[in-house]
Amino acid sequence: MESAQPLEPTPPLGEDDWSALLERALEAPVRVRFSRARHQVVRLARHRGTYHISLARFFSLAPPEIRHALAMWMRSGRRARKACAALDGWIDAHVRALAHEKPAHVRLEPRGSHHDLAALAQGVIAQHFAQEELRAWPSVGWGRKNGSRSRRTLRLGSFDPVDRVVRLHPALDSADVPMWFVRYVLFHELLHAVLDRPERSKGRRVIHGREFVARERAYPDFERALAWEREHVLGLIRAARSGRAFALPTRAAQRPAARPTPTPADDRSVQGLLF
Ligand SMILES: [Zn+2]
Repeated sequence: MESAQPLEPTPPLGEDDWSALLERALEAPVRVRFSRARHQVVRLARHRGTYHISLARFFSLAPPEIRHALAMWMRSGRRARKACAALDGWIDAHVRALAHEKPAHVRLEPRGSHHDLAALAQGVIAQHFAQEELRAWPSVGWGRKNGSRSRRTLRLGSFDPVDRVVRLHPALDSADVPMWFVRYVLFHELLHAVLDRPERSKGRRVIHGREFVARERAYPDFERALAWEREHVLGLIRAARSGRAFALPTRAAQRPAARPTPTPADDRSVQGLLF
């Protein structure tokens, strides 16, 4: 264990400050990028001798011992046990502190034209998560409608562990999307909330860990939901791109012909569309 160098105590650190600091510690080129990622607050890759690391924005406020711990972890990975523990603890505290600050600013509309997410989520919680002791369930609501032509895939649902918010894609707010499918998407995202524990290694959040996969497979509509998604993935993507709700093919009478058919980035399962 090296002694921490007396690093300049003047926060916040910018990306360049971080680069310089890590380059000194690692004696190798380091590119640092701040990200808005909330699931993976640290991502590291090495390409031709250069480290590329993306850090959640709150790393700009890291105290000297955490800067040092990050460098240690980059150099030695999990073998740097003390550094990893310090890093994990600090990240966790930060993510949790943010979780308490932010929810007030997030306004969500759970009531759609066809599906009321608040009511459905209550049912899912009562039926599948009655045993869970959560201090507070996340708020649920529809994401914003913004059609995007460039996207090739879409995310049907997401859980934000910082804001404690579950969002569903507005393309799902359709009479043509069965209620049990919407319920399944809610189940998937609420399961993230249930399992949102510091299950991290190396400063990384485990998203679909072993327990997650096992519990999701046990969900009664799991297979059926996968099959429905597989069958309708192109229609869902098309709906998302046009900023409209999903419609079954027979009803989607006029569809712009000029656009290329979207290809799902990952057709292995519905998992590709959930986060
Ligand atoms: Zn997920």
